[in-house]
Amino acid sequence: MFDIKAVRADFPILNQTVNGKPLVYFDNAATSQKPQVVIDAISKYYGEINSNIHRGVHTLSQLATDAYEISRQKIQKHINAKHSYEVLFTAGTTHGINLVANGFAAFVKAGDEVMVSAMEHHSNIVPWQMLCERVGGKLVVIPMNENGELIIEEFEKRLSDKTKLVAVNHISNSLGTINPVKHIIDKAHAVGAAILIDGAQAAPHLKIDVQELNCDFYALSGHKACGPTGSGILYGKEEWLNKLPPYQGGGEMIKEVSFEKTTYADLPHKFEAGTPNIEGGIVLGTAIDYLNSIGLDNIAAYEHELLVYGTEKLLEIEGLKIIGTANEKTSVISFNVGNIHPYDIGAIVDKMGIAVRTGHHCTQPVMDFFKIPGTVRASFAFYNTKEEIDALVTAVKKAQTMLG
Ligand code: PMP
Repeated sequence: MFDIKAVRADFPILNQTVNGKPLVYFDNAATSQKPQVVIDAISKYYGEINSNIHRGVHTLSQLATDAYEISRQKIQKHINAKHSYEVLFTAGTTHGINLVANGFAAFVKAGDEVMVSAMEHHSNIVPWQMLCERVGGKLVVIPMNENGELIIEEFEKRLSDKTKLVAVNHISNSLGTINPVKHIIDKAHAVGAAILIDGAQAAPHLKIDVQELNCDFYALSGHKACGPTGSGILYGKEEWLNKLPPYQGGGEMIKEVSFEKTTYADLPHKFEAGTPNIEGGIVLGTAIDYLNSIGLDNIAAYEHELLVYGTEKLLEIEGLKIIGTANEKTSVISFNVGNIHPYDIGAIVDKMGIAVRTGHHCTQPVMDFFKIPGTVRASFAFYNTKEEIDALVTAVKKAQTMLG
C-alpha cells in the first residue's frame, strides 16, 4: 500500500485548523486537494516558462509548447488512448460534454434519441437536452433501482436504431455507484450508437483504459484528480473527432482563413480555439504523474477500506440512512439523519472543522427519485484516514443531539 503519513505530508492544506479544529476534508467529489508538487509546478510554470504556445519562435514559447504537448502525451499514456491527438485539452468535464453535444447536432435528427441515465450530473443532462431541443430529438432515460444501480435490462430495452448517442457516468458523484460502463458501451455500439463516458468521478480513483473500454468519448476534470481548476481533457476516437464539427471558432483551430471560407486545423487543434489554459494543461500532467507515483490500484484499495469503515461507523448512528447502496461503489457516502435537513448537519460539522457537501450535488433527478431535498455527502480521498471518519461520526452525533 502506501505510507499515509507521507501522503498527507504532500498536501499542505491538510495541515491546518478550521474553526479551531484540525481540518477534515471530505468534499473530495467536489474537488480534490493539491499536492505540493502540483502547487510547485504552477509556480514554476509562471516563474520560468510562461509564454503563449504553438505560435512563437522564441525559446520560452517553445519550452511552454513542449511542456504542454508532453503533458498531452502523458495523459494519452495514462488513459491508454491510441494517439495523442485524440486527447483534447478542455476546461473540464462540462466543457468536454458540451463540445460533443454541440457537434452532435450534425448526427441527431428529428425523432432520433439520446440516452442518459437517471443518475447523471446536470452537466451530463442539460447539454443533451439542449441538443434535443435544437434538433427535435428525444431524451431517453435509463432508470435506476432503490440501491442506486442502473437497471441494465431497462437500458437494453430502450436501445434501438433511433439511439444516436448514450451518455453515462463512470461513477455517480452523488451515490458513488460504479456503473458497468464496458457492458453499456458494447450494447450501445451494437445498435450503432456512439457513447460518451463522464469520467469526472472516475479519474481520481480508477485506472482508465479508453481502448479497452472502446468508448467513443471520455470526459474528465483535472481539479478532481489533484490537478488545477479549469483543466481537463476530452478523449475522442479519431474517427469521431474527424467527423465532429468544431465547437468554437477562433485562433489556433484553423488552417486558412479568408472571408469566403475557413479550413480547420488537424486534430487536436481543430477543437482547441484560442489561447488555452496552458498552465492547467501542463500541470495536469504533473498531477497524473503524482497519482501514478502513489498508484491508482493502491488508491482504489485504500479508499475502499475507508468506504467500508465509514459505512459501518456511520450506520451506527440511529436514524442515519445511506442513499446509494450499490454493490460496486467508490468512496462516496451520501446520507440523511432522520428528518434533519442536510444543510443543518453540514453547517454544524463545519464548526468542528469537517468539510462535507450538502444539497442535491447537481443531481436533482436523483434527489427526486429518492424523494429527498438533498443529502450530506462525505467523499473520501486517499489522503483521508479512519480517524477522520471517527471525527465525522462524533460530529454528526453532536449535530443530531443539537438538532434532534
Ligand atoms: N460529472 C460528474 C459526475 C461530476 O461529479 C462533475 C463535477 N461535480 C461534473 C460532471 C462536472 O465537472 P466540472 O464541474 O469539473 O466540469
